[in-house]
Amino acid sequence: MTVRDCIFCEIVAGQVPSIKIYENDSVLAFMDVGPISEGHTLVIPKRHFEKLDECPAEILSDISIVLGRVAKAVSQVMASDGYNVLCNNGRAAGQLVEHVHFHIIPRKKDDGVFSKWPSFEYEQGRAEEIAGKICAKL
Ligand code: 5GP
Ligand code: ZN
Repeated sequence: MTVRDCIFCEIVAGQVPSIKIYENDSVLAFMDVGPISEGHTLVIPKRHFEKLDECPAEILSDISIVLGRVAKAVSQVMASDGYNVLCNNGRAAGQLVEHVHFHIIPRKKDDGVFSKWPSFEYEQGRAEEIAGKICAKL
């Protein structure tokens, strides 16, 4: 994928305007143009990777440092009661921009954002079965 194919690469390159919050050599934080709450911010690696699992560990490390700092500032400025950090990976998970990004979404008590959390209970033994398979892949 080239810069021309990716809106976030274009933002990093300064070819598309954005409201920047913070940047260093490897990471950029900027305001989301379609927020789901006031203060909704995105944190991205400057290099293009599609998904979280494609991002090298040192870049994930750089991102995590920025995530904590920006989340704290966003939360304080918005006087939020909490915040979500969200990373959608793959279209089925809601990823529309195929350049890995972390949403910081300030929340207010009873704001109705993500009001549905469709939890369920595993059949007997199923969680252990899945966990065993995941462990074997690590
Ligand atoms: P996704 O659904 O891929 O996890 O979220 C992509 C996010 O990027 C959305 O919240 C959307 O509003 C934001 N976004 C898409 N295009 C632009 C853009 O050109 N500028 C900014 N600042 N945000 C964008
Ligand atoms: Zn990109």
